[in-house]
Amino acid sequence: MVTNTDTLHPVIIVGGGLAGLSAAALLARAGHAVTLFEKAGGAGGRARTSQQNGFFFNQGAHAFYPHGPGAKVLRELGVSYSGSQPGGPGFFVLADDRLYTAPVKATTLLTTRLLPWAAKMELLNLLVRLQGMKYEEIRDISLGDWLERRVKHEQTRRFVLATMRLATYSNAPELLSAGMLQFLLHTQVLYLDGGWQTLVDSLEQKARELGVRIVTGARVQAIEVADDGYRARMADGTSYEAGAVLLATDPKTASALVMDGKHEELRRWSEQALPVRAACLDLALRRLPRPGNTYTLDLDRPLYYSAHSTWARLAPEGGALVHTMKYLRPGETTDPETTRRELEDQMDRLQPGWRAEVVQQYFLPHMIVSNAMVQAHLGGLAGRPGPAVPGLPNLYVAGDWVGPEGGLSDASFASASNAVRLITTHAAGRQDSTMAGSLGVI
Ligand SMILES: Cc1cc2nc3c(=O)[nH]c(=O)nc-3n(C[C@H](O)[C@H](O)[C@H](O)COP(=O)(O)OP(=O)(O)OC[C@H]3O[C@@H](n4cnc5c(N)ncnc54)[C@H](O)[C@@H]3O)c2cc1C
Repeated sequence: MVTNTDTLHPVIIVGGGLAGLSAAALLARAGHAVTLFEKAGGAGGRARTSQQNGFFFNQGAHAFYPHGPGAKVLRELGVSYSGSQPGGPGFFVLADDRLYTAPVKATTLLTTRLLPWAAKMELLNLLVRLQGMKYEEIRDISLGDWLERRVKHEQTRRFVLATMRLATYSNAPELLSAGMLQFLLHTQVLYLDGGWQTLVDSLEQKARELGVRIVTGARVQAIEVADDGYRARMADGTSYEAGAVLLATDPKTASALVMDGKHEELRRWSEQALPVRAACLDLALRRLPRPGNTYTLDLDRPLYYSAHSTWARLAPEGGALVHTMKYLRPGETTDPETTRRELEDQMDRLQPGWRAEVVQQYFLPHMIVSNAMVQAHLGGLAGRPGPAVPGLPNLYVAGDWVGPEGGLSDASFASASNAVRLITTHAAGRQDSTMAGSLGVI
């Protein structure tokens, strides 16, 4: 067995998605020696984009929150991106199989025939109430229960449910924390030019420039407790010593890597995490048959449709990059071909003639959008675990299932940044005690 101790007490990061990459760059910037191991052939995880015939395919519909914790981390690292906010006249709501103008702002809320007058007033009131809401007071209540109690009009309720599905990708209002209603107020999103790969590439470049060693095609098999820290045992038989470890993986992997899956807290975190899944049909079209319909929120079915290339540079001139998606219920096991047909039928409804325009398509039947739904019975966002792992000093977790801040990738960025803060504080403490020791103070 080869043991690599090329740098004293480096930080080892397992996983090169957005969490691992941003933590690596932040740590290196703070002066730490960092090695990042990624088992896939390239970094990026679920934020990777593939490029085919001039079209940029994210892995399912991705929208970036320009005012969230992710944007803050990218700003700190000097990572820039470009993109546009979806909007304009092509926004619709599908209800009872009829298309209505989507109430996305005050004028369309007043003019749309989707909602009767009283339901409009109720929705407006609700939006006003959400401004002053103390979300910690409703985080233990499920969205379904909260709406049942607080919203009278069926159509208002259906609209809020569909919008919350859109915001959280969760299709289980009976489980989702009502605290997530706070995300209804922060609806500004960007579709990114060139896809999310632009974030991955910039973060990877930044990390490398700062001296991070990024090793791809390198699967970590176990993290063992060593004399003065940890040892990462690799699938190829080599091992690496580390002073600190950040597990930027899914919760099941994080648990399996440590103590053969027997660390109590990690195992509990992994067991309680309920993945949010979606089936995605991503389409490159020569043209959009109905260019006037760029976006549809479906109140009848848990389906998503948006022609992302309307707003972001994701397709060649005249072409369209369209994302459709079915929000899967927890444990839903529908046959993938049936799901695919549902998505194709939706395209027939919204973009008749699309089949003749297909240049390329990808069907991803079981994507994990988030590793952990924000559940009411766990106390909402505040109930998410980590980044510190009890009983394992200087070992941390990061990802979209970790920490009390942000949804989806914002949680990955925020937990990565918090783990970096803890690692840096720990290292400073260690340095102080070493200095004090050498001065004879202790
Ligand atoms: C369809 C879909 C739509 C989405 N939409 C949005 C959106 O609109 N907005 C938003 O903010 N987010 C969205 N997301 C979520 C976003 O993509 C993720 O939250 C984010 O990319 C997660 O980054 P991560 O680094 O935490 O995890 P991951 O990207 O999963 O990275 C984990 C990495 O760890 C590696 N790894 C695992 N085990 C090992 C091991 N043993 N050794 C070495 N490496 C290992 C994996 O290969 C992977 O690269 C969406 C996701 C999907 C699938």
